[in-house]
Amino acid sequence: MYFGDPLIRLTLKPGREASVIRRHPWLFSGAIARAEGDGGDGHAEVLDAGGRPLARGAYSPDSQIVARLWTFDGRLPDIALFRERFAAARALREEVLPPETTGFRAVNSEGDLCPGVLLDIYGDAAVLELTTAGTEVWRANFEAAVQEVFAPGRVLVRESGAAQDSGSRSSTRSSNSELVPFTENGLKFVADLGTGQKTGFFLDQRGNRFRLQRLTRGLRVLNLFSYSGAFSIAALAGGASRAVDVDSSASALALARENRRANGFAVADEDFVEADVFDELRRRVAAGESWDLVVCDPPAFAKKRADVDRAARGYKDVNRLAMSLVAPGGWLLTCSCSGLVDAGLFQKIVFSASIEARASFALTARQGAGADHPVSLDCPEGEYLKGFWLRRLQ
Ligand code: SAH
Repeated sequence: MYFGDPLIRLTLKPGREASVIRRHPWLFSGAIARAEGDGGDGHAEVLDAGGRPLARGAYSPDSQIVARLWTFDGRLPDIALFRERFAAARALREEVLPPETTGFRAVNSEGDLCPGVLLDIYGDAAVLELTTAGTEVWRANFEAAVQEVFAPGRVLVRESGAAQDSGSRSSTRSSNSELVPFTENGLKFVADLGTGQKTGFFLDQRGNRFRLQRLTRGLRVLNLFSYSGAFSIAALAGGASRAVDVDSSASALALARENRRANGFAVADEDFVEADVFDELRRRVAAGESWDLVVCDPPAFAKKRADVDRAARGYKDVNRLAMSLVAPGGWLLTCSCSGLVDAGLFQKIVFSASIEARASFALTARQGAGADHPVSLDCPEGEYLKGFWLRRLQ
Protein backbone atom coordinates (compact mmCIF):
# COMPACT_ATOMS: atom_id res chain seq x y z
CA MET A 1 0.00 0.00 0.00
CA TYR A 2 2.89 2.37 0.78
CA PHE A 3 4.94 1.21 -2.19
CA GLY A 4 7.19 3.99 -3.49
CA ASP A 5 6.54 6.27 -0.55
CA PRO A 6 9.81 7.93 0.51
CA LEU A 7 8.57 7.94 4.09
CA ILE A 8 9.18 4.71 5.93
CA ARG A 9 6.53 3.51 8.38
CA LEU A 10 7.95 1.49 11.23
CA THR A 11 5.39 -0.54 13.14
CA LEU A 12 6.46 -1.60 16.61
CA LYS A 13 6.14 -5.06 18.09
CA PRO A 14 3.34 -5.32 20.65
CA GLY A 15 4.48 -3.93 24.01
CA ARG A 16 7.48 -2.08 22.60
CA GLU A 17 5.94 1.39 22.59
CA ALA A 18 6.77 2.40 26.18
CA SER A 19 10.05 4.18 25.45
CA VAL A 20 8.53 6.08 22.53
CA ILE A 21 5.59 7.15 24.69
CA ARG A 22 8.13 8.44 27.23
CA ARG A 23 9.65 10.43 24.33
CA HIS A 24 12.95 8.61 24.34
CA PRO A 25 14.46 9.67 21.01
CA TRP A 26 16.24 6.40 20.19
CA LEU A 27 14.34 3.65 18.44
CA PHE A 28 16.20 0.32 18.36
CA SER A 29 15.80 -1.98 15.39
CA GLY A 30 14.82 -4.88 17.69
CA ALA A 31 11.56 -3.08 18.53
CA ILE A 32 10.33 -3.07 14.91
CA ALA A 33 7.82 -5.63 13.70
CA ARG A 34 7.31 -4.30 10.18
CA ALA A 35 8.64 -1.61 7.85
CA GLU A 36 6.80 -0.20 4.84
CA GLY A 37 8.08 2.42 2.40
CA ASP A 38 11.69 3.04 1.48
CA GLY A 39 12.86 5.83 3.80
CA GLY A 40 14.72 7.41 0.90
CA ASP A 41 14.10 10.95 2.15
CA GLY A 42 15.28 10.09 5.65
CA HIS A 43 11.81 10.34 7.19
CA ALA A 44 10.47 7.63 9.47
CA GLU A 45 7.07 7.46 11.10
CA VAL A 46 6.68 5.19 14.11
CA LEU A 47 3.38 3.42 14.80
CA ASP A 48 2.36 1.23 17.71
CA ALA A 49 1.33 -2.36 17.08
CA GLY A 50 -2.26 -1.19 16.60
CA GLY A 51 -1.24 1.24 13.83
CA ARG A 52 -1.51 4.45 15.87
CA PRO A 53 1.17 7.02 14.94
CA LEU A 54 3.48 7.84 17.85
CA ALA A 55 6.48 9.74 16.54
CA ARG A 56 8.48 10.95 13.56
CA GLY A 57 12.17 11.08 13.04
CA ALA A 58 15.24 10.46 10.95
CA TYR A 59 15.83 7.00 9.52
CA SER A 60 19.23 5.25 9.69
CA PRO A 61 18.76 1.88 8.01
CA ASP A 62 22.15 0.41 8.95
CA SER A 63 22.25 1.52 12.55
CA GLN A 64 21.06 -0.40 15.60
CA ILE A 65 19.28 2.83 16.43
CA VAL A 66 17.17 2.69 13.33
CA ALA A 67 15.46 6.02 13.94
CA ARG A 68 16.19 9.13 16.00
CA LEU A 69 12.87 10.64 16.95
CA TRP A 70 12.26 14.37 16.55
CA THR A 71 8.52 14.85 17.16
CA PHE A 72 5.83 13.07 19.13
CA ASP A 73 2.83 15.13 18.00
CA GLY A 74 2.59 14.19 14.34
CA ARG A 75 4.63 17.17 13.19
CA LEU A 76 6.93 16.59 10.24
CA PRO A 77 10.61 17.32 10.90
CA ASP A 78 11.09 19.96 8.21
CA ILE A 79 13.10 23.12 7.83
CA ALA A 80 10.55 25.17 9.81
CA LEU A 81 10.98 22.78 12.75
CA PHE A 82 14.78 22.87 12.47
CA ARG A 83 14.66 26.66 12.50
CA GLU A 84 12.52 26.64 15.66
CA ARG A 85 14.70 24.14 17.47
CA PHE A 86 17.88 26.00 16.51
CA ALA A 87 16.37 29.29 17.66
CA ALA A 88 15.50 27.76 21.04
CA ALA A 89 19.04 26.38 21.30
CA ARG A 90 20.46 29.80 20.49
CA ALA A 91 18.25 31.47 23.12
CA LEU A 92 19.58 29.08 25.78
CA ARG A 93 23.19 29.93 24.88
CA GLU A 94 22.46 33.63 25.04
CA GLU A 95 21.34 33.16 28.63
CA VAL A 96 24.02 30.81 29.93
CA LEU A 97 27.31 31.57 28.17
CA PRO A 98 29.93 33.47 30.13
CA PRO A 99 31.22 36.78 28.75
CA GLU A 100 34.10 36.92 26.26
CA THR A 101 33.28 33.45 25.00
CA THR A 102 32.95 33.03 21.25
CA GLY A 103 33.59 29.26 21.13
CA PHE A 104 30.67 27.14 22.29
CA ARG A 105 28.36 24.28 21.43
CA ALA A 106 25.35 25.85 19.78
CA VAL A 107 23.26 22.71 19.20
CA ASN A 108 23.72 19.57 21.28
CA SER A 109 21.83 16.74 19.64
CA GLU A 110 19.18 15.17 21.92
CA GLY A 111 19.79 17.86 24.56
CA ASP A 112 18.33 20.43 22.16
CA LEU A 113 15.72 18.07 20.70
CA CYS A 114 17.87 17.74 17.58
CA PRO A 115 19.05 14.12 17.72
CA GLY A 116 21.97 13.49 15.38
CA VAL A 117 22.91 17.15 14.98
CA LEU A 118 25.83 18.95 16.61
CA LEU A 119 26.73 22.55 15.91
CA ASP A 120 29.87 24.13 17.36
CA ILE A 121 30.62 27.78 16.82
CA TYR A 122 34.15 29.16 16.82
CA GLY A 123 34.11 32.91 16.33
CA ASP A 124 33.12 33.46 12.78
CA ALA A 125 32.96 29.80 11.76
CA ALA A 126 30.45 27.06 12.49
CA VAL A 127 30.99 23.31 12.30
CA LEU A 128 27.84 21.32 11.66
CA GLU A 129 28.32 17.65 12.42
CA LEU A 130 25.65 15.20 11.29
CA THR A 131 26.13 12.08 13.35
CA THR A 132 23.47 9.79 11.87
CA ALA A 133 22.70 8.58 8.37
CA GLY A 134 19.18 10.02 8.71
CA THR A 135 20.31 13.53 9.54
CA GLU A 136 22.84 13.40 6.69
CA VAL A 137 19.93 13.08 4.26
CA TRP A 138 18.52 16.36 5.63
CA ARG A 139 21.82 18.18 5.31
CA ALA A 140 20.66 20.95 2.98
CA ASN A 141 17.85 21.95 5.32
CA PHE A 142 20.14 21.95 8.34
CA GLU A 143 22.67 24.13 6.55
CA ALA A 144 19.96 26.58 5.56
CA ALA A 145 18.56 26.67 9.11
CA VAL A 146 22.05 27.26 10.55
CA GLN A 147 22.49 30.22 8.20
CA GLU A 148 19.13 31.69 9.12
CA VAL A 149 19.42 31.30 12.88
CA PHE A 150 23.14 31.69 13.61
CA ALA A 151 24.34 33.58 10.50
CA PRO A 152 27.97 32.44 10.80
CA GLY A 153 30.60 33.68 8.34
CA ARG A 154 30.94 30.13 7.08
CA VAL A 155 29.72 26.64 7.81
CA LEU A 156 31.81 23.49 7.60
CA VAL A 157 29.83 20.27 7.46
CA ARG A 158 31.03 16.95 8.78
CA GLU A 159 29.10 13.81 8.08
CA SER A 160 30.02 11.06 10.50
CA GLY A 161 26.75 9.13 10.69
CA ALA A 162 26.63 6.69 7.79
CA ALA A 163 30.38 6.03 8.17
CA GLN A 164 29.84 5.13 11.81
CA ASP A 165 26.88 2.86 11.01
CA SER A 166 28.88 0.90 8.48
CA GLY A 167 31.86 0.64 10.83
CA SER A 168 34.08 2.57 8.44
CA ARG A 169 36.27 5.30 9.86
CA SER A 170 35.99 7.55 6.86
CA SER A 171 34.14 10.78 7.19
CA THR A 172 34.09 14.05 5.34
CA ARG A 173 36.89 15.58 7.39
CA SER A 174 39.42 17.56 5.49
CA SER A 175 43.06 16.61 5.53
CA ASN A 176 44.22 20.23 5.66
CA SER A 177 44.56 21.95 8.95
CA GLU A 178 42.42 25.04 9.26
CA LEU A 179 43.02 27.22 12.28
CA VAL A 180 40.21 29.42 13.52
CA PRO A 181 40.62 31.82 16.46
CA PHE A 182 38.04 32.23 19.22
CA THR A 183 37.85 33.17 22.89
CA GLU A 184 36.78 31.37 26.04
CA ASN A 185 36.38 33.40 29.21
CA GLY A 186 38.62 36.02 27.66
CA LEU A 187 41.43 33.56 26.84
CA LYS A 188 42.52 33.14 23.25
CA PHE A 189 42.47 29.81 21.47
CA VAL A 190 42.66 28.34 18.02
CA ALA A 191 40.60 25.37 16.93
CA ASP A 192 41.73 23.22 14.06
CA LEU A 193 38.55 22.72 12.09
CA GLY A 194 40.29 20.69 9.42
CA THR A 195 42.25 17.93 11.07
CA GLY A 196 41.61 18.59 14.77
CA GLN A 197 39.86 16.27 17.21
CA LYS A 198 36.11 16.59 17.96
CA THR A 199 35.01 19.55 15.87
CA GLY A 200 38.33 21.24 16.67
CA PHE A 201 38.35 21.84 20.43
CA PHE A 202 37.08 20.37 23.71
CA LEU A 203 34.40 22.92 24.40
CA ASP A 204 32.83 20.66 27.03
CA GLN A 205 35.66 21.36 29.52
CA ARG A 206 35.09 25.11 29.70
CA GLY A 207 33.70 25.00 33.26
CA ASN A 208 36.56 22.90 34.57
CA ARG A 209 39.09 25.20 32.93
CA PHE A 210 37.44 28.19 34.58
CA ARG A 211 37.54 26.51 37.99
CA LEU A 212 41.17 25.57 37.43
CA GLN A 213 42.14 29.12 36.58
CA ARG A 214 40.97 30.20 40.04
CA LEU A 215 43.18 27.66 41.85
CA THR A 216 46.51 27.81 40.12
CA ARG A 217 48.33 30.88 41.47
CA GLY A 218 51.95 29.87 41.95
CA LEU A 219 51.28 26.16 41.26
CA ARG A 220 53.21 23.71 39.09
CA VAL A 221 50.73 22.00 36.79
CA LEU A 222 51.03 18.72 34.89
CA ASN A 223 48.44 18.47 32.12
CA LEU A 224 47.99 14.86 30.96
CA PHE A 225 46.27 14.10 27.64
CA SER A 226 46.62 17.80 26.97
CA TYR A 227 45.44 17.98 23.34
CA SER A 228 45.79 21.69 22.45
CA GLY A 229 46.87 22.54 25.99
CA ALA A 230 43.71 24.40 26.94
CA PHE A 231 43.95 23.47 30.64
CA SER A 232 47.50 24.83 30.69
CA ILE A 233 46.36 28.13 29.20
CA ALA A 234 43.79 28.46 32.00
CA ALA A 235 46.43 27.47 34.58
CA LEU A 236 48.96 30.03 33.33
CA ALA A 237 46.26 32.70 33.15
CA GLY A 238 45.57 31.89 36.80
CA GLY A 239 49.21 32.46 37.70
CA ALA A 240 50.66 28.92 37.56
CA SER A 241 54.45 29.02 37.75
CA ARG A 242 54.73 26.27 35.15
CA ALA A 243 52.43 24.04 33.08
CA VAL A 244 53.60 20.95 31.24
CA ASP A 245 51.53 19.38 28.47
CA VAL A 246 51.78 15.66 27.76
CA ASP A 247 50.16 14.16 24.68
CA SER A 248 51.03 11.46 22.18
CA SER A 249 50.03 13.64 19.24
CA ALA A 250 52.64 15.97 17.77
CA SER A 251 50.01 18.00 15.96
CA ALA A 252 48.07 18.51 19.23
CA LEU A 253 51.23 19.80 20.89
CA ALA A 254 51.84 22.14 17.95
CA LEU A 255 48.40 23.63 18.62
CA ALA A 256 49.27 23.87 22.31
CA ARG A 257 52.32 25.98 21.46
CA GLU A 258 50.16 28.14 19.22
CA ASN A 259 47.71 28.72 22.08
CA ARG A 260 50.46 29.75 24.50
CA ARG A 261 51.82 32.25 22.00
CA ALA A 262 48.37 33.67 21.34
CA ASN A 263 48.01 34.45 25.06
CA GLY A 264 51.49 35.91 25.42
CA PHE A 265 52.93 33.04 27.50
CA ALA A 266 56.48 31.80 27.04
CA VAL A 267 56.93 28.64 24.95
CA ALA A 268 59.67 26.38 26.36
CA ASP A 269 60.38 23.05 24.69
CA GLU A 270 60.49 21.15 27.98
CA ASP A 271 56.86 22.10 28.65
CA PHE A 272 55.60 20.05 25.68
CA VAL A 273 56.15 16.34 26.02
CA GLU A 274 55.23 14.02 23.15
CA ALA A 275 54.78 10.67 24.88
CA ASP A 276 52.40 7.97 25.92
CA VAL A 277 50.91 9.19 29.20
CA PHE A 278 51.16 5.77 30.87
CA ASP A 279 54.89 5.49 30.08
CA GLU A 280 55.53 9.08 31.01
CA LEU A 281 53.75 8.69 34.36
CA ARG A 282 55.69 5.55 35.24
CA ARG A 283 58.90 7.36 34.47
CA ARG A 284 57.97 10.39 36.57
CA VAL A 285 56.71 8.28 39.50
CA ALA A 286 59.97 6.30 39.46
CA ALA A 287 61.88 9.60 39.47
CA GLY A 288 59.96 10.64 42.63
CA GLU A 289 58.41 13.76 41.09
CA SER A 290 55.68 15.70 42.82
CA TRP A 291 53.28 18.25 41.37
CA ASP A 292 50.85 20.78 42.88
CA LEU A 293 48.08 20.11 40.40
CA VAL A 294 47.63 17.29 37.91
CA VAL A 295 44.95 17.24 35.21
CA CYS A 296 44.05 13.84 33.79
CA ASP A 297 41.61 14.08 30.88
CA PRO A 298 42.02 10.98 28.70
CA PRO A 299 40.02 10.09 25.61
CA ALA A 300 36.98 7.85 26.16
CA PHE A 301 38.37 4.44 27.13
CA ALA A 302 34.94 2.78 26.73
CA LYS A 303 33.20 3.34 23.41
CA LYS A 304 30.92 0.30 23.70
CA ARG A 305 29.56 -1.77 26.54
CA ALA A 306 32.00 -4.61 25.96
CA ASP A 307 34.86 -2.17 26.65
CA VAL A 308 33.75 -1.18 30.14
CA ASP A 309 35.88 -3.65 32.15
CA ARG A 310 39.03 -2.87 30.20
CA ALA A 311 38.28 0.84 30.42
CA ALA A 312 37.87 0.59 34.18
CA ARG A 313 41.33 -0.95 34.45
CA GLY A 314 42.76 1.81 32.25
CA TYR A 315 41.17 4.53 34.39
CA LYS A 316 42.39 2.87 37.55
CA ASP A 317 45.98 2.59 36.29
CA VAL A 318 46.21 6.12 35.02
CA ASN A 319 44.66 7.54 38.19
CA ARG A 320 46.87 5.47 40.48
CA LEU A 321 49.95 6.82 38.70
CA ALA A 322 48.67 10.39 38.56
CA MET A 323 47.74 10.30 42.26
CA SER A 324 51.26 9.24 43.17
CA LEU A 325 52.55 12.47 41.65
CA VAL A 326 50.25 14.83 43.59
CA ALA A 327 51.85 16.50 46.60
CA PRO A 328 49.91 16.50 49.90
CA GLY A 329 47.63 19.55 49.77
CA GLY A 330 47.72 19.40 45.97
CA TRP A 331 45.00 18.74 43.43
CA LEU A 332 44.02 16.11 40.93
CA LEU A 333 41.36 16.99 38.38
CA THR A 334 40.46 13.61 36.96
CA CYS A 335 38.01 13.24 34.11
CA SER A 336 36.22 10.58 32.14
CA CYS A 337 34.26 11.24 28.99
CA SER A 338 33.01 7.63 28.62
CA GLY A 339 29.23 7.81 28.93
CA LEU A 340 29.19 4.10 29.72
CA VAL A 341 31.24 4.70 32.88
CA ASP A 342 28.79 6.65 35.02
CA ALA A 343 29.75 8.95 37.89
CA GLY A 344 29.13 6.23 40.49
CA LEU A 345 31.38 3.73 38.75
CA PHE A 346 34.02 6.36 38.07
CA GLN A 347 34.10 7.28 41.75
CA LYS A 348 34.64 3.61 42.70
CA ILE A 349 37.46 3.32 40.17
CA VAL A 350 39.13 6.45 41.45
CA PHE A 351 38.71 5.23 45.02
CA SER A 352 40.45 1.93 44.28
CA ALA A 353 43.21 3.85 42.50
CA SER A 354 43.76 5.89 45.68
CA ILE A 355 44.00 2.72 47.77
CA GLU A 356 46.65 1.33 45.43
CA ALA A 357 48.48 4.67 45.40
CA ARG A 358 48.35 4.69 49.24
CA ALA A 359 47.14 8.26 49.08
CA SER A 360 44.12 9.84 50.68
CA PHE A 361 42.01 12.20 48.58
CA ALA A 362 38.81 14.12 49.22
CA LEU A 363 36.25 14.79 46.52
CA THR A 364 35.60 18.55 46.65
CA ALA A 365 33.49 19.00 43.52
CA ARG A 366 32.21 17.19 40.48
CA GLN A 367 31.77 19.13 37.31
CA GLY A 368 30.76 17.95 33.88
CA ALA A 369 30.03 19.80 30.68
CA GLY A 370 28.54 23.28 30.71
CA ALA A 371 25.03 24.47 30.02
CA ASP A 372 25.79 24.69 26.31
CA HIS A 373 25.87 20.87 26.44
CA PRO A 374 22.37 20.34 27.83
CA VAL A 375 21.16 16.79 28.55
CA SER A 376 17.51 16.00 27.90
CA LEU A 377 15.84 14.18 30.78
CA ASP A 378 14.21 12.09 28.06
CA CYS A 379 17.67 10.89 26.99
CA PRO A 380 20.03 10.64 29.97
CA GLU A 381 22.54 8.85 27.71
CA GLY A 382 23.54 12.34 26.56
CA GLU A 383 25.48 12.88 29.79
CA TYR A 384 29.06 11.70 29.44
CA LEU A 385 31.63 14.03 30.95
CA LYS A 386 32.69 13.70 34.58
CA GLY A 387 35.33 15.88 36.20
CA PHE A 388 36.24 15.08 39.82
CA TRP A 389 38.18 17.66 41.80
CA LEU A 390 40.25 15.72 44.29
CA ARG A 391 42.33 17.29 47.03
CA ARG A 392 45.17 15.22 48.39
CA LEU A 393 44.84 15.01 52.17
CA GLN A 394 47.97 12.98 52.87
N1 SAH B 1 42.23 17.75 27.88
C1 SAH B 1 42.07 18.11 26.48
C2 SAH B 1 41.31 17.07 25.71
C3 SAH B 1 41.91 15.70 25.76
S1 SAH B 1 41.46 14.66 24.42
C4 SAH B 1 41.41 19.48 26.39
O1 SAH B 1 40.89 20.00 27.37
O2 SAH B 1 41.44 20.05 25.30
C5 SAH B 1 42.49 13.30 24.61
C6 SAH B 1 43.93 13.53 24.16
O3 SAH B 1 44.65 12.39 24.58
C7 SAH B 1 44.14 13.63 22.67
O4 SAH B 1 44.84 14.81 22.37
C8 SAH B 1 44.99 12.40 22.28
O5 SAH B 1 45.98 12.71 21.32
C9 SAH B 1 45.63 12.08 23.59
N2 SAH B 1 45.99 10.67 23.84
C10 SAH B 1 45.24 9.57 23.66
N3 SAH B 1 45.86 8.48 24.14
C11 SAH B 1 47.04 8.91 24.65
C12 SAH B 1 48.13 8.26 25.33
N4 SAH B 1 48.10 6.96 25.57
N5 SAH B 1 49.16 9.01 25.72
C13 SAH B 1 49.19 10.33 25.48
N6 SAH B 1 48.18 11.00 24.89
C14 SAH B 1 47.13 10.30 24.47
